[in-house]
Amino acid sequence: MNKRAYNFNAGPAALPLEVLQQAQEQFVDYKGIGMSIMEISHRSKEYEQVNDETQQLMAELLGLPEGYKVLFLQGGASTQFAMIPMNFAAGGRSGSYVMTGSWSEKAYQEAQLMGEASIAASTDKEKPLRMPAPSEIQVPADAAYVHLTSNETIAGTQFAEFPDTGEVPLIGDMSSDILSREFDASKFAMIYAGAQKNLGPSGVTVVILREDFAKQAAKGIPTMLRYETYLKNNSLYNTPPVYSVYMVNLVLKWIKEKGGLAAMERSNREKTGLIYSAIDNSGGFYEGLAARDSRSIMNLTFKLSNEELEKAFVAEAKANGFVGLPGHRSVGHLRASTYNAVPYESCKALAEFMDEFRRKNG
Ligand SMILES: *Cc1c(COP(=O)(O)O)cnc(C)c1O
Repeated sequence: MNKRAYNFNAGPAALPLEVLQQAQEQFVDYKGIGMSIMEISHRSKEYEQVNDETQQLMAELLGLPEGYKVLFLQGGASTQFAMIPMNFAAGGRSGSYVMTGSWSEKAYQEAQLMGEASIAASTDKEKPLRMPAPSEIQVPADAAYVHLTSNETIAGTQFAEFPDTGEVPLIGDMSSDILSREFDASKFAMIYAGAQKNLGPSGVTVVILREDFAKQAAKGIPTMLRYETYLKNNSLYNTPPVYSVYMVNLVLKWIKEKGGLAAMERSNREKTGLIYSAIDNSGGFYEGLAARDSRSIMNLTFKLSNEELEKAFVAEAKANGFVGLPGHRSVGHLRASTYNAVPYESCKALAEFMDEFRRKNG
């Protein structure tokens, strides 16, 4: 096989090589049935097994207590931005949003389309980019829910600590850092994530929902936009994104084999430590965009002293096999996304490349 790229894409993003190879082995003939998993009914026992096992693995890895359900939806995390207020901000109540960057802004805008929405905290206009401390988050006592973005993929900021919201249900968009570290999932009434950053290919959105919270949902919503539909039908009301769920299944098994969330966190801190060190030990040649206590272990944003130099960095990196390093168009500068599946070797190679680029251009 040709050398794999040093893949720092933000999403869709790197998948574990072992998972790709396993999928390749099973591509034409899934477990001896003479067909691929894509060619059989979603009501077959083969797919039902994938569906159930993927839910169980997710619950096990997150350490979910009783009373939670794992669901598979479509439409990406972006559809959740609308489904959340549709289901939970009805009857004159409204959600409260923690504003930390582009993704929380989009979630808030959808809630406003549906009616009122309040702001529980906002750090999105601040430089350096940062996440609010739990004490800065002011939750209206009558809020239907509080919504936060655990990791701002574009800014490169991540919550170090989640707030305690008491009686008010907490909802987390964890699209870009789910299963990257240990955390107390029972603080959340709902967690959701588009799969294409840390879980698998695009096409499926994983929703983890506390059943008593789900019961509060409004009635009279179109069937496909009601969480109840997925809960009642084990995510098999209509045809699910079979292949995407299958790939998530393989990724979850890979995470479990590696030692679960504790092992992922250890590895992610080690990996990103290499790159953050290259930034911090550069004598100001590289500068991180996020405040240190808000630095993400998934998306690392940084800049050089001018745009010319950044362009040269990207071009030279590309010539050396590095992919995905330009920052998001809204923030600019540079970004390395180091999701679970990005190998240590890629991060080490990037840190070394950064050191060398600095020596040549500093
Ligand atoms: C990528 C991303 C989204 C959007 O996901 P889609 O599946 O493309 O809709 C939402 N929130 C966060 C935090 C993201 O990183």
